[in-house]
Amino acid sequence: MRIVLLGPPGAGKGTQAKKISEEYEICHISTGELLRKAVQENTPLGKKAGEYLDRGLLVPDEIIDGMVKDRLKMLDCERGFLLDGFPRTLGQAESLDGFLKEEKLSLDIVIKIQVEQAKLIERFTGRRTCKNCGASFHIKFSPPKKAGICDNCGGELVIRKDDEEETVKKRLQVYETQTTPLIDYYDRQKLLVTVDGSKAIDDVFEDIKSYLEGVKS
Ligand code: ADP
Ligand code: ADP
Ligand code: ZN
Repeated sequence: MRIVLLGPPGAGKGTQAKKISEEYEICHISTGELLRKAVQENTPLGKKAGEYLDRGLLVPDEIIDGMVKDRLKMLDCERGFLLDGFPRTLGQAESLDGFLKEEKLSLDIVIKIQVEQAKLIERFTGRRTCKNCGASFHIKFSPPKKAGICDNCGGELVIRKDDEEETVKKRLQVYETQTTPLIDYYDRQKLLVTVDGSKAIDDVFEDIKSYLEGVKS
């Protein structure tokens, strides 16, 4: 199965992506997580990307496209993949289409997770992210078993630097201008479905699964 998750920052893409990739045994590619890891490890990619992340701006397409292609070529993506946070611009979507065509592959479905803005803000303010595996928790809606510690890997939970109010506003704005054109782009390709992301985490997952059952693996 080859899936793209679309939706504003804070909609729950990462949360649902973890559940989907486990259930269907496909690789989960989060460009945000890959970038944060690169920044943390101070790799050449991290040095280039760090400032964009801190300012809530998109990292240039050339950097992202190369990073995603390298990841998609890895063996664990052979069974299928789930893209979380990519593509985010029309340029990235076209680049992905080009890559898939070369590999004689195609996307099965694009799932848009819809959440209204007021709700998004409340999600950012309580978000805690594992420094080690990237899993998201929420102090109110999805608390870890032990405060400050990741349920999955025991890693330390931190507040993302770009989750502060000013940067969040910028990221929401960037989503509106640069990413929303993808909704039309995938709708025209008859790939788009929309789920109501304002429901509880498990209910959103059930809705996603009902769409995925209709997609052959
Ligand atoms: P969120 O889950 O809140 O939407 P992400 O973890 O996906 O945030 O992304 C965090 C940051 O990483 C973005 O604000 C941006 O700077 C960078 N980033 C992630 N994915 C992309 C992408 N596909 N293109 C450009 N920049 C990206
Ligand atoms: P994204 O990857 O789209 O930025 P996350 O998956 O990191 O979003 O979710 C943002 C925050 O909201 C996290 O703190 C997460 O635990 C919480 N969250 C995710 N889905 C829901 C939901 N359906 N209801 C309430 N909180 C949620
Ligand atoms: Zn973890």
